[in-house]
Amino acid sequence: MKPVPDHAVNRLRAWRKSISTRPFLARGGTLARCPACQLREDWCACEWRPELKAEAGFCLLMYDSEPMKPSNTGRLIADVLPDTTWAFLWSRTQPHPELLALLADPAWQPYVVFPACEKEPARLTGEVTLAPGKKPLFILLDGTWPEARKMFNKSPYLDGFPVLAIQPDALSTYGMRVANCDEHLCTAEVAACVLEVAGELKAGQGLQLWFNLFSRRYMAGRMSCHPAADEAPLLHGLTALKAATGAQQP
Ligand SMILES: [Zn+2]
Repeated sequence: MKPVPDHAVNRLRAWRKSISTRPFLARGGTLARCPACQLREDWCACEWRPELKAEAGFCLLMYDSEPMKPSNTGRLIADVLPDTTWAFLWSRTQPHPELLALLADPAWQPYVVFPACEKEPARLTGEVTLAPGKKPLFILLDGTWPEARKMFNKSPYLDGFPVLAIQPDALSTYGMRVANCDEHLCTAEVAACVLEVAGELKAGQGLQLWFNLFSRRYMAGRMSCHPAADEAPLLHGLTALKAATGAQQP
């Protein structure tokens, strides 16, 4: 059994599970899964997981049972960037005090990542422009599309921040993006795009690769077929990334 990485999403998941009054029945819940990567046990991808560093921070606001879903991709961000990813359950009226403290921390410059802002178009931006000494904090609304829209419209504590709207098609510089989440990008793909916008190409690429491997194996698990043999380039990319980041460490 692989150790479960100690990061914000996994901690939130454990807590959310502890307060559940009934067992969470995930889609595909009868499958024996690796507790760390949530893939079918025999297709565990943990050995390929890169651990990276980024200047940018991510603040995940997760809708209700989202942290418990094996298909959740917000977790993949914390997998790759455990030191700079925070996760909170969303609440309209009672946001977690640590969330409010993070949003008020002068070290960070928050952006809400969302595709539109009809009520206040002036909040929309396509760029990350940082004040001196600040690092970007990207707030991601993690849930289904209607849930994300609800979180965006009903979180008064987010109203003062600019809204970063990404254009994923223009940004898929690596040519490896796989479309599988309705017409919208998954949370991890959004984060990979945002890292590119912020100029953190290596972290963005690493997250995209990790997402691609996860989603391929996850989909294969759902369809009870073997992961495609064409994942070799992905594994090669992740191996190269791990070797490169390992070499940077003392
Ligand atoms: Zn695993």
